[in-house]
Amino acid sequence: MRPWETYKAVVADIDDTVCPSTRPLSAEMARTIGEVVRGGRRFAFISGSTMAHISAQVTPFLDVPHQLMAASGSHYTSVEYAAGRPVVTEIHRLSFSPAERELILGAIRRLVERRGLRSLTSTEDQIQDRGSQITLSALGRHAPEEAKRAFDPDGSLRLGMIRELVSEIGGGFTVRRGGTSSIDVTPGGMDKAWGIRRFLEHNRLDAADVLFFGDNLGPDGNDAPALRVVDCVAVSGPDHTLALLRDPAAAVAAALPAGSPPPSGSQPGRPGV
Ligand SMILES: [Mg+2]
Repeated sequence: MRPWETYKAVVADIDDTVCPSTRPLSAEMARTIGEVVRGGRRFAFISGSTMAHISAQVTPFLDVPHQLMAASGSHYTSVEYAAGRPVVTEIHRLSFSPAERELILGAIRRLVERRGLRSLTSTEDQIQDRGSQITLSALGRHAPEEAKRAFDPDGSLRLGMIRELVSEIGGGFTVRRGGTSSIDVTPGGMDKAWGIRRFLEHNRLDAADVLFFGDNLGPDGNDAPALRVVDCVAVSGPDHTLALLRDPAAAVAAALPAGSPPPSGSQPGRPGV
C-alpha cells in the first residue's frame, strides 16, 4: 500500500461507480471530486458509453477541470471552465472503418433476429453505433432498469450471444458484456486498459501515478482491464466511492496493486455494469 500523496490522478468508471447507472453526478459527489482536483490531482472519467451521455452525466455538475474518456477512451476530451462555462477540447476520436461497421451491424442485426430480441424502447436504442464502439442493448438502453437487470443476471446468456457474434465477425474485435443487458463491440484491444494508457500518455504520467475506481473489477468485468495497468479500488456503488474519496487513506488501504488478479466474489452478481 502506498500513501495517497503519491497518486497524481484519479481515473473513475462512471455508471455505478460515481453515478447510479445513466444518472447524473450527485451534488455531494461533484463537491467531493472538486476537492480532489483542488487538492492538486487530475480527475478523469472512463466509460463504455458515448461522449454525449457521459458529458451530460458529469460536466454540468462540476466546476473543476476534468477529462472524459467515452467508448473506453476511443473518444477522449478534456474540459476546463472559463467564466463558469465548460470549454471542451477534443484529444482524439477513433472509429471503425465503413467495412468494419457493416460487418458488425449486420452480425448484430442477425443475432437480434435469431434470438427474437425485442427493444422495450426503440430500435435506435437497441443497436447504438458510437463510432468506435457498437453496442447491442438487448432491451434498449433506456428500458426500465429492473427489466435490464432481470435479462441476464448471471451474464451467461450474453456469453452465448458473444460466441455467436465472434463466430461471424472474427477475432479482430473486442466483444464483451457491458451494462446489465448489453454487449459492446470495440476494435481489438480497445478496453479500459487501452484508455488508461492514452490518459497516461496525454498527461505524461506513469502508471504508478494513477488510482482507478470501478464497480466491476471482477473476472470478466468491464473495469477488470484497468487492473493490468494501474492500482485499482473495487467499489460497491456511488455511496462507497464517495466515502472513499472523502477518506483517501481508506481508499489506498483497499487498493489492489496493478497486476493483481481480478477480485472474485467481491462484486457478486455484477457481470458487466
Ligand atoms: Mg460501472
